[in-house]
Amino acid sequence: MEKEANSWDAKQSEDYYGLRRWGGGHFSADEKGFVCAHPAGDGRRIQLMEVIEEAMESGLKPPMTIRIQDLLRHRVELLAGAFANAIEGEKYAGRYRGVFPIKVNQLREVVEEIRDAGEPLGFGLEAGSKPELLIALALSEKAGSLLICNGYKDPAYIRLALLGTQLGREVILVVEQPSEADAIIKVAQEIGVTPKLGIRLKLHSNGEGKWKNSSGDDAKFGLSISEVMTVLKKLQKARLSDALKLIHFHIGSQVTDILAIKRAVVEAARYYCELRKLGHPIQYLDVGGGLGIDYDGSRSNFESSMNYSLPEYARDVVFNIKKVCEQAEVPEPDILSESGRALVAPHSVLVLEVVDRIAKVPEGPLPRKTKRTNHVIKDLLYTLEESKKHSQLERFHDAQQKRAEAESLFTHGYLDLKNTAIAEELYWRICDDIRQNLKRDGYIPEELEDLDTLLAEQYVCNFSVFQSLLDHWALGQLFPVAPLHRLQEEPTTEATLVDITCDSDGKIAKFTDLEDVRPTLRLHPVEPGKPYYLGVFLVGAYQDIMGDLHNLFGRVNEVHVFLEDDEENGFYIEETIDGFSTNEILDLIQYKESDLMRRMKTQIDTAIKNDTVKPREGVRLLNLFSEQLKAKTYLDTSSSKTRTRRNKAR
Ligand SMILES: *Cc1c(COP(=O)(O)O)cnc(C)c1O
Repeated sequence: MEKEANSWDAKQSEDYYGLRRWGGGHFSADEKGFVCAHPAGDGRRIQLMEVIEEAMESGLKPPMTIRIQDLLRHRVELLAGAFANAIEGEKYAGRYRGVFPIKVNQLREVVEEIRDAGEPLGFGLEAGSKPELLIALALSEKAGSLLICNGYKDPAYIRLALLGTQLGREVILVVEQPSEADAIIKVAQEIGVTPKLGIRLKLHSNGEGKWKNSSGDDAKFGLSISEVMTVLKKLQKARLSDALKLIHFHIGSQVTDILAIKRAVVEAARYYCELRKLGHPIQYLDVGGGLGIDYDGSRSNFESSMNYSLPEYARDVVFNIKKVCEQAEVPEPDILSESGRALVAPHSVLVLEVVDRIAKVPEGPLPRKTKRTNHVIKDLLYTLEESKKHSQLERFHDAQQKRAEAESLFTHGYLDLKNTAIAEELYWRICDDIRQNLKRDGYIPEELEDLDTLLAEQYVCNFSVFQSLLDHWALGQLFPVAPLHRLQEEPTTEATLVDITCDSDGKIAKFTDLEDVRPTLRLHPVEPGKPYYLGVFLVGAYQDIMGDLHNLFGRVNEVHVFLEDDEENGFYIEETIDGFSTNEILDLIQYKESDLMRRMKTQIDTAIKNDTVKPREGVRLLNLFSEQLKAKTYLDTSSSKTRTRRNKAR
């Protein structure tokens, strides 16, 4: 194994971890084995380890989110560019505009970056709730800014939206429930403002993938055909027929199959044409979100992938709308899309430090055989040492039998703790030896296919899945993982990742592979005293906000990096955001710092009075408590070295 390390290079790691496949050109490995981001699609790159080092100098440690701000801008330009090309190619008469759905990443720096990058391209914002609408209104600072209002609406929501109209913004209130039409008409008449309206359609065409239930008969949102007709009548009665400016659909996020998109676009375009023929001056056809991210890079309709490219998506939307309109002899609408995931997923990288490893196979010398060595142990030693006499499968069966025998002897009191432990260690050594032999032979019997998984080490990472990768836990969504350095070395350890929560679900034991799921990922051996950093990629959509406080681990530290040609390493950190400190988290669940301190002080004072603790020691203990209340929630690894723990558990 060690010898082969020389013949390995960063290109091979790039291939193994799939950086170029899922990276969409945004990530690569350099010759020295460091992962680089390419935020602008030109030659410029940012080495992520340099960002981490600079952040550490200013006191921020992993777990940490690195936001590559220029990548947001670049994604906006790619999306707009794809539609511009499609529109030119198809000689399409309408224009394209995008709106960013705030729910996908609400962080101010993210929304502002997209707004600024999108402004010259006619982009706007989309809100799905009152809090998001407040953000969208405040950030729509330019006259004429486009603002699409979705989600459940109460009278206050409607009044807020019309406030935007009064200020000269292009606000479109999308009717998603039949009852909303009445509410909008009522509020609009009260204020005396003519609203611009949209209708969300409940299409027959379903999405594909995990989020496909966002459309169809059982969808939570949207109007069926008969409901559309009812709403149109209401508008007519209120003399608001001309207010209908947009029709909208959203068939779910991460649509994996382009056919689902084509079907939905054709169906919605038919609605558009019919409504135009009824005399409604509809300007926009809003194709919603759903544009995917190829998390595994397989370009397939596998759950974590998508079988189409961005240019193909744009062409299909434009082409199908045009075709339907031509047939119906209706002018082509402006096209609007609400892509969220596709804009923001790539810009953020979660950085994890491996702080410990749990290995099953012991290292060091074998136990010595004596006359008194128990026969089970002798048998296991024999199976280990005579590796060629029998088939590997037979050795595996022998080892299993002997291990069971050792356990039974222990239960009945014939084998002591020490020797039972030796038996177990020998069992794992045999499994490891079998695995090595099988690798050399190239043939693996079916029963032994899972040996890699069985023997995999667990790399303990300083983070919480529930805070930082909620969709992985809740929906089984896969995110690409790769070391951020050492890629010029061959990774030799099959491993899974576990977090530091006390929850056995707090782990990553499913990794992206081409159209498949890997149960383990090959990583580098952790070297004592040397930090080892992993990146979890494409986490910029949805994960940021949804994190929960399981075990009271809070938001992680954050750095925002920008390209900067004048800097030696090509970037600068524009902003750092401290992760939650413990007292902030405790405050959220009603524990006040001062109250906790008072209670602790009383206990320590009593201990001093009773002479179980010396006064000086008492002060020290209270300081420790107070210090930790103010500290971050994650492990502080600055003083300890990476340790190796040998786990004897099965
Ligand atoms: C969530 C949502 C989106 C964003 O979808 P993506 O798949 O992330 O692009 C767009 N429109 C509506 C109405 C949504 O609810």
